[in-house]
Amino acid sequence: MTLIKTIQELQKALAPAHAAGKTIGLVPTMGALHEGHLSLIRRAHAENDLCVVSVFVNPTQFNNAEDLQKYPRTLDADLALVGDLADIVFAPSAEEVYRIPATEHYDFGPVEQVMEGPARPGHFNGVGIIVKRLFDWVDPTRAYFGEKDYQQVAVVKTLVRQCGLKLEIIPCPIVREASGLALSSRNQRLTADQRATAANIYRILKESRDLQTTDTQKIIAFVAREIEKYDLFKLEYYQIVDGETLQPIADLTAAPTAVGCIAVWADNVRLIDNIRYK
Ligand code: AMP
Repeated sequence: MTLIKTIQELQKALAPAHAAGKTIGLVPTMGALHEGHLSLIRRAHAENDLCVVSVFVNPTQFNNAEDLQKYPRTLDADLALVGDLADIVFAPSAEEVYRIPATEHYDFGPVEQVMEGPARPGHFNGVGIIVKRLFDWVDPTRAYFGEKDYQQVAVVKTLVRQCGLKLEIIPCPIVREASGLALSSRNQRLTADQRATAANIYRILKESRDLQTTDTQKIIAFVAREIEKYDLFKLEYYQIVDGETLQPIADLTAAPTAVGCIAVWADNVRLIDNIRYK
């Protein structure tokens, strides 16, 4: 694996692969890598001639200064974890990425107007900016994204469609701790007690699948009630949406796929998760 820090070096390193028509798998990350990231990286490694992992804590997608400042940065450990699963780890500085100022403005339409969109103003525009720039620099055959960030996958698919890009977006399943807690770099900021309590998020979501109703308001009320039993948690939203359009549905029978998406504050750490109802 080669560590690359500039766009010029990256493009130089990838030129022979492009010239030879090799396939390239890209895994965009913000580092502090864990098994969730590794599942994407292993898949990109297995399915492509070359695997490129980007590690960049992208300031334009943070709408909360404290979250950006406290976001874990562990490049040495990340490189050790990735080892030879990646051919290239691209870890640029913010100056390098934003040498051209971030003036792009994306409008992803309805998929960004729900859940994380209103909760984190500007977040998806920042995601769009960095993901589109990475796509331009790497020109991958496939790019891998985790369903942990369910709405992000929909936004990235919209970006690809809107920009007429040729690459394939590969959504990958959520990797969880044995406790059920979805792996996240932000989990590092939880105390051991908070982490144990956070495992209840997925337990509650799973229990909500066993309710004998298709009325989403009833399911949402159950999840809200159960989450609020824990002093640690503050529920930001729980919504049940059409798995494709991400628009809220009143009844599980109203769409071919239905996903429940949650955002919970555990003290000052924001956790998201989701579960498929059908
Ligand atoms: P991040 O570093 O949080 O920006 O995540 C980089 C990529 O890894 C995104 O596509 C995430 O959805 C994905 N990812 C993060 N955590 C998990 C997880 N627990 N399971 C699967 N994918 C994940």
